[in-house]
Amino acid sequence: MALPELDTAQATASAPARPVTRTRATALPEVRWAALAALAFLAAFPLDLAGAPAWTWAPLYAVCYAAGGWEPGLAGLRALRERSLDVDLLMVVAALGAAAIGQYLDGGLLIVIFAVSGALEALATRRTADSVRGLLDLAPATAVRLTAAGEEVVEATALRPGDTVLVRPGERLPADGTVLSGASDVDRTSVTGEPLPAPAAPGDEVFAGTLNGSGALRVRVDKDPADFVVARIAALVEEAGATKAPTQLFVEKIEQRYSVGVVVATLALFGLPVAFGTDLTEALLRAMTFMIVASPCAVVLATMPPLLSAIATAGRHGVLVKSAVAMERLGAVDRVALDKTGTLTEGTPRVTAVRGDTTALALAAAAELPSEHPLARAVVAEARARGLCVPEATDFAAEPGRGVRAVVDGHDVRVHRASGTHGDTAVEVVVDGAPAAVLELSDRLREGATEAVAALGRLTGSTPTLLTGDNAGAAARIAAEVGIDDVRAGLLPHEKAEAVREWERAGAKVLLVGDGVNDAPALAAAHAGVAMGRAGSDLALDTADVVVVRDELGAIPAVVALSRRARRLVVQNLLIAGVCIGALVVWDLVGHLPLPLGVAGHEGSTVLVGLNGLRLLRDAAWRRAENGTARG
Ligand code: ADP
Ligand code: MG
Repeated sequence: MALPELDTAQATASAPARPVTRTRATALPEVRWAALAALAFLAAFPLDLAGAPAWTWAPLYAVCYAAGGWEPGLAGLRALRERSLDVDLLMVVAALGAAAIGQYLDGGLLIVIFAVSGALEALATRRTADSVRGLLDLAPATAVRLTAAGEEVVEATALRPGDTVLVRPGERLPADGTVLSGASDVDRTSVTGEPLPAPAAPGDEVFAGTLNGSGALRVRVDKDPADFVVARIAALVEEAGATKAPTQLFVEKIEQRYSVGVVVATLALFGLPVAFGTDLTEALLRAMTFMIVASPCAVVLATMPPLLSAIATAGRHGVLVKSAVAMERLGAVDRVALDKTGTLTEGTPRVTAVRGDTTALALAAAAELPSEHPLARAVVAEARARGLCVPEATDFAAEPGRGVRAVVDGHDVRVHRASGTHGDTAVEVVVDGAPAAVLELSDRLREGATEAVAALGRLTGSTPTLLTGDNAGAAARIAAEVGIDDVRAGLLPHEKAEAVREWERAGAKVLLVGDGVNDAPALAAAHAGVAMGRAGSDLALDTADVVVVRDELGAIPAVVALSRRARRLVVQNLLIAGVCIGALVVWDLVGHLPLPLGVAGHEGSTVLVGLNGLRLLRDAAWRRAENGTARG
């Protein structure tokens, strides 16, 4: 009967290959409430102005105030309980104050514009999240499944309990399972929050999403990983939206004290005149006007919209910037360093010459089989292309930046770096301590590498450096091809990181582009770390602040230019906000600012600042960033 098979097919088809949490933008509650508030206001104010009886428009105003005010009001009260003062609350109080003295229209307008700017902000955040999620759909997590026929690469969501997977060094575990063979350390930070790598040996339980260290593991899948993959993507998206940029944190700190100052001044402006016999309504009106114009709404909206918009736009063009912090940092870099293999080159090298016998090649391929390194794949591919039998290795260990060693058919086999001949990458095969063969490999330069390096040099006003673990000859050849004259070759992972730290100590802000396990320490040390999405190992993707999803080097100068533009917009916004608030406050204190004018001025500047930031959402912003870097 064909039924069971049909069942499996259905189960596979219905497995969530992509997250199904995508909602339409209009479904956002912020947007709905803002629309309701706006509609009620639009219905109420013509009746109010036309002098219709109060029962026709008063309920509509009530709906407007409630729809636009309940959420910020409640959030503000909650913040107050934690002894922090929120501008949202100031706005709601100001609107209610205006209503209390009969200025329903002004209060309503304040509520509506406030709700609309809140909805705009929510929309911008949602678009960012959608873009990011869309990208992650493009780069699904895959796993290497071991079957009787050999190894096959499958989507992690297609794994089923009972499957055996091979996990190479630096790769993320695709499923919850049990170690069958191999020895390594596994970093469980993402699952348990425990930042220490724990040893993993046969029989140990391991978890999806944790990072494998420098050993290779064979793991039996124990659970269906589908749910987990979705959870991981959701967490990444959240990470992008939830972290606050340094400028934002700074603004929020100032905002707190400032808001308290506004409340104190408002109380004084109300209390003093009343004490000296001024009319109560008159005093309340002035106090409310002051509170509205002095509120730092525009300042609050100055920072995040430009950065979030830039993140969304970069996301649509294949650059995943993980947080607002990262977006802000990118624009500050003034020195660039790039890795060679897999970053400037395509990372799909071919073996061009084998100096030695083919037995050594077969042994080397066996030792390289569990490795994630591009060179390892080339060695394995060459052995298979020659029809050699590749035996299974045991005791595999990787030394990132140097090579691998393993026991094959009772022989101790090491494959590690060697100095090349005429500018080629070369690895030496050592069997039982005796040199057995030298394999020469060459890799092609990535498309657009030369232009990207030149653009990065122009943008930062400094000469980019090539940091590589490869030999000096191969490094010099690639450097010459791509137009770099500052080369550091033969570096181990910690030496790459040390080079970055040295520059940072000297006051530079370093942008590091890399792909490998061996680049991870340097990516972490850099002011901004950029990983190549396709060529990149999971460890590099995890450590980097920015992921170039489609491996287009040209996107890197563009995103740096976009970040600079976002930073300029933040400064511009803070200036606009500061000048508007200052002018209105002085006008109110010195002259006499009518309440409607105060509301219009305050909300006008807030909306202006908000929209100014959203300009970076348009595709034109990305094109401008690209063109800017091309022209220099
Ligand atoms: P890069 O810094 O250019 O990306 P790596 O640091 O990853 O290069 O590698 C540096 C050198 O170490 C390689 O050129 C190679 O000689 C050697 N090496 C690293 N990993 C392996 C491996 N799995 N097999 C053979 N050689 C390796
Ligand atoms: Mg590399």
